[in-house]
Amino acid sequence: MQEFDVVIIGGGPIGIACGLEAKKQGISYIIIEKGPIVNSLFNYPVNMQFFSSSEKLEIDEIPFISKEAKPKRNEALEYYRRIVTSNKLNIHLFEKVIDTEKQGAFFSVKTDKNEYRAKNVVVATGFYDLPNNINVPGEDLPKVSHYYNDPHFYASQKLVVVGASNSAIDAALECWRKGAEVTLVIRGPEVGPRVKYWVRPDIINRIEEGSIKAFYNSTVKEIKPHQIVINSPEGEVTLENDFVLALTGYRPNFAFLEKLGIELSDDPKRLPSYDPDTMETNVDGLFLAGVICGGMETHKWFIENSRVHAPIIMNAIKHKMDLTAENS
Ligand SMILES: Cc1cc2nc3c(=O)[nH]c(=O)nc-3n(C[C@H](O)[C@H](O)[C@H](O)COP(=O)(O)OP(=O)(O)OC[C@H]3O[C@@H](n4cnc5c(N)ncnc54)[C@H](O)[C@@H]3O)c2cc1C
Repeated sequence: MQEFDVVIIGGGPIGIACGLEAKKQGISYIIIEKGPIVNSLFNYPVNMQFFSSSEKLEIDEIPFISKEAKPKRNEALEYYRRIVTSNKLNIHLFEKVIDTEKQGAFFSVKTDKNEYRAKNVVVATGFYDLPNNINVPGEDLPKVSHYYNDPHFYASQKLVVVGASNSAIDAALECWRKGAEVTLVIRGPEVGPRVKYWVRPDIINRIEEGSIKAFYNSTVKEIKPHQIVINSPEGEVTLENDFVLALTGYRPNFAFLEKLGIELSDDPKRLPSYDPDTMETNVDGLFLAGVICGGMETHKWFIENSRVHAPIIMNAIKHKMDLTAENS
């Protein structure tokens, strides 16, 4: 069994930042990523543009140059990939962590390929793997997706987009511009207040001019192979429908956190317990990094404000290692 000072679970931007910082501080580490480098970003919509400007997405002050102030998905893939390859980070790709257990002073980290031993573990698994389901009959039909990729796919099709946040609104506008007939189903009375300030007027104008139909204060009741049934303030509405994009957000893997012994707040936010000065959880040697720290409040943390977790965590681990060395 290979042994490291720290095993980092998740090779997203923040897991990579943790690996880079560990390397700088002489801490032995491995990053384990179940997909390709920055798997979540790889699965973002192909034309996606970040709301952050490129310097805010930089890690370890390595310059991120993009064509426009706000980079596109492809530029971010290039940036984080180059960080991994140029720094020869120790990352195992397409290897999934399936169990992590504390045995005495060590963690045993089991993957679908190997088993590792470490005194410290950083969980940087994000939240993009688990969509918030809308829990209606028909949600499992092949025409329904919780991930949006390329607008071309929906050209000349009747598309319902469920949701009112950035992902839903971006998808609705892009698909309408590529010739889809788009209907939005919005649970609340308006387009989400956190929709990017330069996109909000665009969607509101498209709805007001009737180019995109919107049902406010409405929910999906049922999805059928060729139709969708909507509960609206005017009553039940049935529409002809080819595809549904249910873009209602994502959630961290709480079962994994609980299995590790991390305490979660006893309210709908399900905030994990950790010390913000070290990012160490209530379990000794177990740290959280990146957007997973926000529990159900997935808008609280992003790359911009969570990249600092990397030096905070590695300073804490280094400090522990120095104390152990002094005492031995
Ligand atoms: C459409 C969209 C636009 C965004 N725009 C911005 C922006 O402009 N600015 C900004 O700062 N943030 C933005 N964000 C948020 C930011 O991109 C994400 O929050 C970012 O990916 C978080 O980084 P992370 O490393 O914490 O998590 P992630 O990038 O999600 O990385 C987690 C990684 O862990 C891996 N993983 C999960 N489980 C396992 C397992 N069991 N074993 C091994 N690996 C595992 C996943 O494959 C994934 O690669 C955006 C998010 C979305 C969805």
